[in-house]
Amino acid sequence: MQVPFYRHALSRADAERVAAVLDTPMLTSGPVGREVETQIAAYLGTSHALLTNSWTNGAIAVLLALGVGPGDDVIVPAMTFVATANVVALVGARPIFADVDADTLLLRTDDVLRRLTDRTRAVIPVHLYGQMVDVAGLRTALAAAGRPDVRIVEDAAHCFEGSLDGHRPGHDSDAAVFSFYATKNVTCGEGGAVVTRSADLADRILHTRLHGMSAMAADRLSTGRYRHWDMVTLGTKANLADVLAALLPGQIASVDRQRARRATVAQRYRDAFSGIGLRMPAWRRSVVHAHHLFPVHVPTGHRDGMLRRLADAGVGVTVNYRSVPSTTFYRDRAPHGATPVSDEWGAGTISLPCFPDLTVAEQDHVIAAVTGAIHRLQVPEPV
Ligand SMILES: *Cc1c(COP(=O)(O)O)cnc(C)c1O
Repeated sequence: MQVPFYRHALSRADAERVAAVLDTPMLTSGPVGREVETQIAAYLGTSHALLTNSWTNGAIAVLLALGVGPGDDVIVPAMTFVATANVVALVGARPIFADVDADTLLLRTDDVLRRLTDRTRAVIPVHLYGQMVDVAGLRTALAAAGRPDVRIVEDAAHCFEGSLDGHRPGHDSDAAVFSFYATKNVTCGEGGAVVTRSADLADRILHTRLHGMSAMAADRLSTGRYRHWDMVTLGTKANLADVLAALLPGQIASVDRQRARRATVAQRYRDAFSGIGLRMPAWRRSVVHAHHLFPVHVPTGHRDGMLRRLADAGVGVTVNYRSVPSTTFYRDRAPHGATPVSDEWGAGTISLPCFPDLTVAEQDHVIAAVTGAIHRLQVPEPV
C-alpha cells in the first residue's frame, strides 16, 4: 500500500470557481481576492486581511512595512522552517535564534527575553505543527521587561484554524502571516495571507505588497481610465492572483470540519504510539490545535534508518525540521550550541501523513510500519 504524505481535498466546486476567473479578462488580484480577504478577516475575527502569493513574500511585506532592516535583530525560534529566518535576512536584518520548550517544541518566552538587545526590533513566534504559542503572554513579558516597542509577527503557516484561550492568530500581535502552500491545511498551491488589527499597518502593507506603488494594480486597471501612480516606499511583489484565490473560499468554509478530522487522525496516532519509545510534542489543554503536522521523535541515531524503512513500506514522510542554525547557511552565522533543544529534536524528528481524508486503512498501514520499524531498531541493520 502507498500512503502519500499529503492529499488535498479540493472539489469540483473549487474547479468551477477557478473556471469562472478564467472567463474574466484579468487573472491577477481582483474581486475574488477581495472577497476572500473579507472571509478571512471574518473567520479570524480581525479587521484587516491581505492575500499574498506566499508566506515568505507576505512576511517580507510585513517586515518592510514595519521598517525592519539593516542594523536590526529579529528573534526567531531555531525549530522552524528556514523561511522564518530567511525573511529576516532578506530584508537585511539579522535573525537571532532562540530555543524552544522541550515538551511543546514552541518558542520559549524566557529564552526570547534573554536574547533581547538594543538592536531587537521584532520577534517571530511560530505556531509549530498547529499549536499556538502564547502570544498574549509573550506580549505581556516583553512589556514587563521594558520592551513594549518590540514588534510581534506571528508565523501562523501551521495554524490558520487554531486558537489559544479563544484567541486566534493576529489577536495579540502586530500581524500574523499564513501560508497556503501545497501541503498546508488551507492551500491554493502557492499563496498566503497577512492579518493585522492595525489600519495603519494594513495600509502600509498594501503598498509593500505591491512594489511600494501608491495604488493597487487592479484599481489602476479597473476604472477604464488610466490613473497615474507613484512609488512611495520600497516594496516587494506579494499579491495573490484571483485564479489561485478562487481555490480558497470553499476550503475556508469547511476548515473547522476538516480540523475535527485531523484531530481524530492525530489522536489515533497518539494512542497507537504511546509507550513504544517515540517522543511526541505535548498538547496544551487550552489550545484548539490545527494538527498541521504529526511529528514523532525517533531514538537518537535511528532517524535515517526509520526514514528508509517507511519509504520501503510506501509511506510518504518528511522532516519538519532540522534546526535552522544547523543548516550550512546559518551554521557560521549563528553561535554554536545556543539552541540545544531545537538541535536535538531536529536530529530525530519525522512527520507522518496527517490529513483529513487519510483513511483508517491507510493510517493502520502507517502505524504498522512505524511500530514494526521501532521493534527492529533493536536489531543492527545490515551494511
Ligand atoms: C510553509 C512554511 C513557511 C513558508 O511558507 P511559503 O508559503 O512556502 O512561503 C514559513 N514558515 C513555516 C513554519 C512553514 O511551515
